[in-house]
Amino acid sequence: MNEKTATGFSSLQETLVTHFKWFHSHPELGHHEWETTARIRDILADAGVEILDTGLKTGLVARIGNGGTVVALRCDIDALPIAEATGLDYASKNGCMHACGHDFHLTSMLGAAMLLKQRERQLTGAVKLIFQPAEEVANGAISVLASGALDDVAEIYGLHTTPGMPVSMIGVSPGAAYAAVGAFTIRIHGKGGHAAHPHECRDPIVALSQIIGAAQTIVSRRTNPFEPVALSFTHVEAGNTWNIIPEEAFAEGTIRAAGREQFNAIMRRLERICKGVQEICGVQIDFHCVLNAPAVHNDGELVEFVKQTAQELGLKTGPSAPTMGGEDFAFYQERIRGVFWNIGVASPEPAHNPRFIANPAALGTASALLSAIAEKSLKRLSSVE
Ligand SMILES: [Zn+2]
Ligand SMILES: [Zn+2]
Repeated sequence: MNEKTATGFSSLQETLVTHFKWFHSHPELGHHEWETTARIRDILADAGVEILDTGLKTGLVARIGNGGTVVALRCDIDALPIAEATGLDYASKNGCMHACGHDFHLTSMLGAAMLLKQRERQLTGAVKLIFQPAEEVANGAISVLASGALDDVAEIYGLHTTPGMPVSMIGVSPGAAYAAVGAFTIRIHGKGGHAAHPHECRDPIVALSQIIGAAQTIVSRRTNPFEPVALSFTHVEAGNTWNIIPEEAFAEGTIRAAGREQFNAIMRRLERICKGVQEICGVQIDFHCVLNAPAVHNDGELVEFVKQTAQELGLKTGPSAPTMGGEDFAFYQERIRGVFWNIGVASPEPAHNPRFIANPAALGTASALLSAIAEKSLKRLSSVE
C-alpha cells in the first residue's frame, strides 16, 4: 500500500468509525428504522449517490454507475429488543441494541458507496446498494423484492459479522450456509374440569405432552441422519393451579432444515402428529406454521470469486461452517445468483447477546471488499455479454 492510499484508507476508516458509533447508539427495530434511514439517506446524498424511488417505508435502495449490467450489494439495518450491557461509551440507551452487527453492515455499505462513487466512471454497469429493513423479523427482503428494485440484478452479495473470527477475516463456503427457518404454534382446545375427575374432561395438557413426545421422533426416526434438521419447542403454556384441568394448552417452537422442501416435509409430519393426537385425545387442535426464510445457499463459482477478491485485498480467508440460524438474504438467492459471507469482528460474546461488540477496526476492509466485488463482478459480467 503506498502512502497516498494508506492516508485515503485511514481517513475513510475514521469517517466510518464515526458513522458506526452514531448508528450503534441509535438502534431501531425492524420496520421502525426511521432515524436510521434518514441518516443513511443524508450520508449518501452528501456523497452524491442517487437514491431510487422504491416506495419502501424504511430502508432504501441506492444506485451508482450507468445502465447495462446490474449487480447488488445488500446490508440490513434493524436492531434487536435487547438492553445493551457492553459498557461502551457509544452504547445504546434506548432499550434496543445493534446486537447482531447490522450497524456494522450498513456502515461498511456506506463505505462501499463512497469508494464506488469515486470509481463511478470506471464501472462497466451499475451497482444497486440495498439498505434492507427488518431482517430480524424476516420480511424485509420480501418488501425489497416486491418493490421491483432488483428485477434487473444479475448477481447479489452480502456479508454478516461473525463474533468468533479474528477482525477482518473472511469466512465463506459453497453450498448451505444458513438453514430454512420457520415458526409453528399449536393451540389445543380441550374440556376443563376437576383434576379428580379426568374422565369427565378432555385434558389438553396430556394431548400437548403426547405431541411434544411424538415430535421428537420426526428428527430421530423419520429424518436421514445425514440431513441437518432441528425441531425445538420453546414456549409451552397451560393451566394455573394444582387441581384444575385447564380448557386450553399452547405451544410454539421452530423448525430448521436444509431447504424449503425439507422444511415443508417436517412441517407436514408435525401437522400429522397433531391430527393423530386430536383423534386419540378427543380435543380440537389448531396448528399453524410459517416459513420465515428459506436456506442461504452460496453459488460455488461465485464463492471462489469472492475468496480470490478478498485475497487480492490481502485479507485472510477460510471456510465458514453452516449454521441452523436463519437469514432472509435467502429470498434474494432464490431469484438471483449470489454469495453471503462472514466477516470477523472478534466480539467477546455471541450475536444477540447484550455484551456483543463488533470491532469497528474491520469496517474499512469490509467496505473495500464490497466495492471491489461489485466492480469486478460488473467487469466479469460485461465481458461475457
Ligand atoms: Zn440477528
Ligand atoms: Zn443479523
